[in-house]
Amino acid sequence: MALEFPFDPLKRSKEVENQVTRDDKRLYYRFRPAPYYGGIATADAVGCSFLCAYCWNYNRNLHPERFKEFYSPQQVADKLLHIAKKKSYRLFRISGAEPVLGERSFLHLIEVLRLINQSKPDSLFILETNGFFLGYKTDLLEKFREFPNLRVRISLKGIDQKSFEQITGAQKDFFRFPLIALRELEGLGISAWPALMGDLFYRNEISKLERFLRENAIRSELELEFLETYPFVLENMKKRSIKI
Ligand code: SF4
Repeated sequence: MALEFPFDPLKRSKEVENQVTRDDKRLYYRFRPAPYYGGIATADAVGCSFLCAYCWNYNRNLHPERFKEFYSPQQVADKLLHIAKKKSYRLFRISGAEPVLGERSFLHLIEVLRLINQSKPDSLFILETNGFFLGYKTDLLEKFREFPNLRVRISLKGIDQKSFEQITGAQKDFFRFPLIALRELEGLGISAWPALMGDLFYRNEISKLERFLRENAIRSELELEFLETYPFVLENMKKRSIKI
């Protein structure tokens, strides 16, 4: 798919969702135990509405069409539950991609949540998302109330429109949607918090974002992520003139 920067992430979400979903199935390329959060059963997917310069899964998200294995929610839940049982984990997540690209991938996610919750009621599912589609279509969020074991971590990418566009490759006007998702989730009483790649910003810029979040009625604390400096990540950041 030809991609010109900056792109319209809504258009990209639709195109990518068409590539990575088939009926209720979604493309995944790996299932693994991962050390994060003290141990978490992880399903690695492909396909994102953004194309962040620092994405550790950049090439797979640039070319999701190279993958061919579609998994149903039942197959995903079975694989994750198997890993969790073997490793005595209670945490679950989807990584490497954006779990919610549109309504079809949202329904796939909801079914995975339901199946894991049914089999392991003491589990916690950490939804790592860029928050874009959830903020664009906030009526979806109500559905999350059925899952008290859900925690939503929204990666904000930038501190303002300019840095958002530079990092994600998506047009700057769409910066507001992840923030809308956060505010709505908090309003619904769903556990959610923002995250930001701390290595890319000065302390005063991060403080400015924290003030901005509070002024916009987002009360949860900002988590700072740390950059994984793979050579291709540094190369992609250089191409977009992003300094660490
Ligand atoms: S939002 Fe996440 S998965 Fe998507 S491109 Fe950015 S870092 Fe990668």
